[in-house]
Formats: sequence, structure tokens, C-alpha cells
Amino acid sequence: MRLSRYFMPILKETPKEAEIVSHRLMLRTGMVRQQSQGIYSWLPLGKRVLDKVNAIIRDEQNRAGAVELLMPTLQSAELWQESGRYDDYGKEMLRIKDRQDRPMLYGPTNEEMITDIFRSSVKSYKSLPLNLYHIQLKFRDEIRPRFGTMRSREFLMKDAYSFDWTKEAALHSYNKMFTAYLRTFDRLGLRAIPMRADTGPIGGNHSHEFIILADTGESEVFCHKSFLDRSIPAADTDFDDVAGLQAVFDDWTSDYAATSEMHDEAAYGAMPEADRISARGIEVGHIFYFGTKYSEPMGAKVQGPDGKEHLVHMGSYGIGPTRLVPAIIEASHDENGIIWPASVAPFDAVIINMKAGDAACDAACDKIYAALGKAGKDVLLDDTDDRAGAKFAMADLIGVPWQVIAGPRAVANGEVELKNRKTGERETMTIDAAINRLA
Ligand code: ATP
Ligand code: MG
Ligand code: MG
Ligand code: MG
Repeated sequence: MRLSRYFMPILKETPKEAEIVSHRLMLRTGMVRQQSQGIYSWLPLGKRVLDKVNAIIRDEQNRAGAVELLMPTLQSAELWQESGRYDDYGKEMLRIKDRQDRPMLYGPTNEEMITDIFRSSVKSYKSLPLNLYHIQLKFRDEIRPRFGTMRSREFLMKDAYSFDWTKEAALHSYNKMFTAYLRTFDRLGLRAIPMRADTGPIGGNHSHEFIILADTGESEVFCHKSFLDRSIPAADTDFDDVAGLQAVFDDWTSDYAATSEMHDEAAYGAMPEADRISARGIEVGHIFYFGTKYSEPMGAKVQGPDGKEHLVHMGSYGIGPTRLVPAIIEASHDENGIIWPASVAPFDAVIINMKAGDAACDAACDKIYAALGKAGKDVLLDDTDDRAGAKFAMADLIGVPWQVIAGPRAVANGEVELKNRKTGERETMTIDAAINRLA
């Protein structure tokens, strides 16, 4: 991408309304734009990061055996009347009427709809286990939308729903998602800690929130410090290995970790003081096992090997991609801007042409740009005629992992400078060496 042809509306001033660093940086870098309260457009730079976050989520959902589909944002009120949640959900639900005066709603979650899809076509235990997921917009009319996309009214959620015909099998499905979540957040460069959690309006009895420790987090959390360096399940984890996944779950729940709603002061106080962490955290994911809470009122049953009908045991599993993007920034920035983990960076490298219009600089930049593009890298080429200082500041601000600095003096020697955004280290090398390093 050539910056001269891109759309990246960087703000000079820090917007006053932004209270936390991620919100400030997302507005300053032109990643998002607020359209109305708690409703955002994702501009090209933000969209790139969001797509990379979604790709990692999707990859790990698929690895764990979940199957992707896409459900609509607008739902008929009828399904919610069947489950009894139409009246229970309250003011967070945006209720709409169509031209025939039929009550509709903008989905805050999809348990009812997925249960309807399931019951219309799955009839036998032989089709189970089944886990269906989508990545789709949700709407919740939050009483206090704030911190940009961290708590917005319209937001993206990856929501997966598991179906099994015994509780035992359903808990294995739960462990699959538990394990997939550990891997997902790790690949996003985050340390997320599964904590015993309240089930809220989704309901149910077995639930964990995945929490990132951050001073700006809205949750109050308590945990053992062992979670900070516990090892993550490997990519070749066998998701069909019931005992293996139970061992992952047991390991990751063996020490104390709970949100304030579930906090047990006695159990927490029993740990040595040096092991205790009492902190604030950001909820980035939440998983639930809720048994037959929806299958019962909605009649979702399968025929078992015994020839009898069994209500299906369900779970649901949410991750908030549009909250994860600011959460990653909260965890990874400095006074100059964002420091993206390589896995979600909007570009792998930015080439800074220090003298756009100079034949030698242009040629060197074009050569690197073409070679890295051919190697499948996402590269931003700053080919504008801005001042050098402004270009450096922009590159630091948008937080791309590598900067290739092409100035006339170095280029005359066939060289460029390579700067690592995170460490600040700079190294002069030949153009070919720079290409080899980044390709
Ligand atoms: P919170 O406690 O922050 O209100 P929640 O418990 O209501 O979240 P869940 O129903 O558990 O949210 O939804 C699953 C995930 O969706 C959350 O873990 C979070 O990552 C994301 N999410 C929920 N509400 C919002 C929101 N208003 N803005 C952005 N992401 C959200
Ligand atoms: Mg909520
Ligand atoms: Mg919550
Ligand atoms: Mg939750």
C-alpha cells in the first residue's frame, strides 16, 4: 500500500473525549471513527487489524472443530418469546418494528437463533458433538458506552454454540473452547487468565471469563500469580483427547482466579501474600455451559442410541474482537504510540522514503516494496513528501513492527536502515539484506 493512495486520517491533536490510551491512539491513528454514541466505523488501518484478529480467532475455532456459519443481526421477537428472554433481557435489547408491525430486535447474542437452526435439522445423537460459530455484529444498548470500541453499543462478537446429548460430552466441548481460547489470546500477544465467573443473562452453571490484567479494565479481579507464566497448550493439541483436554482445564483452574462477583475472600486470603494478585481486568472472552436452559423451552432434542429423545446440553462461547483491538493496545504501547504484536500488525513493515521524488530513493523503495509484496508481506510505503520528522513520528505512532528507512546517503551506498519499533534498535544493512531479513 502506497501511503499517498491510502486513507489513513491521522489526527494531529489528541481528541479530548478519549479517557484511556487505547481510545486516544485508535482515534489519532484513524483506525476508527465514532458515528453516533457507541457506534463506530472501522477505517482502513483499523479494519486491517480487526481482520487479523478475526483470522486468528477463526483459525483456532476451526482447529478445535467448530464450524463457521453466519446468522443475521436482526432477529424475530418470536424466538425470544419462546425462550422467555424477550421480556427478561431489558433495556440493553434494541427492539424494532418492521412495516408490518412485527416485533424484531437487533441481536445482543444468538442462543435462541442457533437453537432454532439446530432443532430444525439435527435429529440424532450421531450428528453430535456439534459446535457452530459466527463472527457477527451485536447490539447492546449499553447504559454507559465508553472507551471507544472497548465498550460500544454495536460491536463484533465471535459466538460459538456447542450441542451434545450428555452433560459429560458437553463438558468436553467446553474444554475444547477453553483450550482454543488459551491459544487464541496467546497468539494475539496477550496473557488472558480464565476466571470463575458469574453467568449473567446468558444463564447457566459453569462459566469462565477470560481476563487481561490492565489498570483501565472495568472488572475487579483476584488471582494467583502463577497464571502469569503458565504454559499454553501446543498447536498439535488433540482436541478429541478427552483426558488430555481435561488435564489442560484442571491445570488452568488449579489456582485461585475469580472476578469480584465470584470472589471468595477466604480462599484468596489463604494463599501466601506474595502470590496474590488483586487487580483490574478487561473481559475479552466468556464461556458458558448451561445444560438444557434453551433446549428445554425450545424443544431441541435428539434421538439417543437407546431410541429415546434427549434434550441437548448446550454451551456458548464469546470473544469480542472489537474489544480485543483496544485491549491489545492497552497492553502494548509507549509514549510514541502503538507497538503491535507481529501477529496482528496492520502492516509487517513500513518503508520510509526520506526523499520522495529522488530517483535513487524511489528506486530503492520500489525494489524493497515489490520484493516484500512478492514474499506475501503487507507493506506500507511512505511515498509522501512530508518532513522526515513527521514520517518517523507517524511510523512510531501506527506501531508497525519494522521500519525500513531509505535516505539518500545510505541509498547511495546501496544501503538502508532497519528499525525495530519495539526495541528502537537501528541497524544499517544492504538493501538485499533488509529484504532477506523481512521476507
Ligand atoms: P461486559 O461484562 O463487559 O458487559 P458481557 O459479560 O456483557 O461483557 P458477554 O455476554 O459475556 O459480555 O459477551 C461475550 C464477549 O463480548 C465479552 O467477553 C466481550 O469480549 C464482548 N463484549 C460484550 N459487550 C461488549 C461491548 N459492549 N463492547 C465490546 N465488546 C463487548
Ligand atoms: Mg455486558
Ligand atoms: Mg461481563
Ligand atoms: Mg460476560
